Order: sequence, then structure tokens, then C-alpha cells
Amino acid sequence: MMPVPESHNQFCELFWEFGSRCNFNCPYCISASNIYNTKEALPISQIVKSLNSTGKKWHIHISGGEPFLHPDFVELCTALTRYHKISVSTNLSTNNVVIFTEQIPQQQVGLVKASLHISERMKFVDGLKRFVDFVNLFQNRTFKIQVEYTLYPPLVHRVFRDLIYLNTQGVHTIRLKPFFGVYNNKKYPESYSNDLRNLLRRYAETPKGLDPFAHRESFGKICHAGINTFYMDASGNLRRCANSKVSYGNLFNNYFKADTSPRPCPFPTCTSIQGVHSCGAQRSTLSKILHEVFQEYPSILESKLKIRNLTKNLTRYGTRLKARQLPNFFMYGKN
Ligand code: SF4
Repeated sequence: MMPVPESHNQFCELFWEFGSRCNFNCPYCISASNIYNTKEALPISQIVKSLNSTGKKWHIHISGGEPFLHPDFVELCTALTRYHKISVSTNLSTNNVVIFTEQIPQQQVGLVKASLHISERMKFVDGLKRFVDFVNLFQNRTFKIQVEYTLYPPLVHRVFRDLIYLNTQGVHTIRLKPFFGVYNNKKYPESYSNDLRNLLRRYAETPKGLDPFAHRESFGKICHAGINTFYMDASGNLRRCANSKVSYGNLFNNYFKADTSPRPCPFPTCTSIQGVHSCGAQRSTLSKILHEVFQEYPSILESKLKIRNLTKNLTRYGTRLKARQLPNFFMYGKN
């Protein structure tokens, strides 16, 4: 293994969508599938070497799919945690989580996010009990673990019962996540009752004390994603965040670039935890915002719908710019 360079003292965040393969089939999940992507099976030594060769110390947030389905996942975590820190999102359904708790030093693990998918768990005898047993195993070995429960509308009738059950079984930290989408012709999270909204706020992940419904509008706000926090797909492609399409290189090909100063967000809303940490309240100047928009949507001037959405966003934030003025702005920086 390649040694980590001397300058290995800078701490960066990497949100790694490790793969899309999952053994569960939750109706509210948009990313997972049962198909195995061969690109996800990169040799561990190569992954670790690529990360180490950046000369940076990473906190790697691994999500999926279900990362523990990778046959060598614990081996990968062992290698990564020698120099870096990890956090993992998992459904806690595989036996190798036990080996993880035995082999991985808990001080190198930021957080284990354990998603409780009730409808999948109920397909098996003792499915819920097995989940709670695994959570307690992590807790007993002093890992920081948080149970996550998506408040999918068909689960509303049982959520209080489930919360009481988790509490009585000694689960310390539970986070309720709103469902984003449409169910029975109703749009969520907008359609939750006031009581449920309050419940979601009470059990929300609030690293900055933020309301789970309030941090979503991000258009034009200054964001640090791209400086020391990045999103990476299963093949090593780096982007500023999951919303963005602009490439920051490929870590597995040892090509990686970073911004030196923060840039405005060109997206109407931000749903990622990355944005909660990286995006402030301050908005950028109009010319910088439009520059970002053009980078993300280079064909914007060809689409009436995109122009309409953009001018709507600008108007919402108090900047009036008519659609016919946009071409001048993109070409000469003025209206
Ligand atoms: S605010 Fe969110 S969506 Fe916007 S650039 Fe930052 S991380 Fe990406």
C-alpha cells in the first residue's frame, strides 16, 4: 500500500455513493436496485491507494444501495480507517456487521446510520428484533449509531408504536425522516398534518438546529461544497454535490481538482446533508449565480422551460431579470 504523504493533515468530507445494489425493495427509495454493477467491484487496494494519494485526510460517508453486500466491505473499512475516518449508512441486514463491530476501531467511525425499513423487516420472522439486536451490538461496543425511520405515509398508523418499541429496547438515537414524493395523489412532505410535522421536527437530525422542512431553498446561496466536501459515485467520479453534473475529476484515476473559494448554489433546493453543513444563508451576486447556472445547464438558452424556471427563481429572490435579457447576461455579464 502506498504510504500517506507528509502533508496528510487536511480534513475533507467525501460523500460516496458506494453502489446501487440493495437486498431490500422499499417503495420510497429511488436509488437502489438488485442489479450488481461490475464497476462497483474495484479492488480495495486501488480504492485506498487513490484516496491516500490525494494527500488529504478524508471523512468518508459511505452510502448505497447497501454497502455491506459488497463481499469485501469490512476489509475495505479496515483499510480506510487506518488513515481516514468513515461513516456508514446501512440497513443492518447482513451478518458481516458483527465482524465490522469487532474489527473496526470505533474512534475512526463518525456515525453509523441504521435505516429501519419496517415493511421489509416484517417479511421475516423476528425481522425487527434482529435489527434492534444489531443496533444494541453497535451501542454496546460504543459506536455512535443512529436509527433512521422514513415516515412513509402507509407507516403513519404505526409510527408511535414503533418509536415506543425502539425506546423500550434501549435504542438511544432515533431520527425520523420526511418522505419526499407523491403518495395517493398527495405531495409530501407538504401533506403531513401539523402533529406529524411536529413529530418530524422532534426527531429530526438537526446538526445546526435546522428545521427539516426549512433548509431546502438554496438557489443563489453561497456554498462551500467543492472546496473540501465532495460527492463521489461508485466509479470514482467526483462532483461538487449529488445535484451537480460538473466534474471535479475521478479519484480512482488519480485526477482530482478542488475549488479555492465558495460558489453560489445554482439549484432551487438542496436536500443533501452536505448542503446543511456547507451552505450558508448569504446570497451571492447575480453575475456569479448566473455563471454557476450556465455551468450546470449549458443548454439553458435553448430551453424555454429552463429559462422560465430560472427567471422564476431569480424573481423569488428579489432579482428581476426578464427572459429576453438572459443571453446578454451570459455573454457579457450584464443585462
Ligand atoms: S447548497 Fe446543496 S445543492 Fe447547492 S451546491 Fe451546496 S450542496 Fe449542492
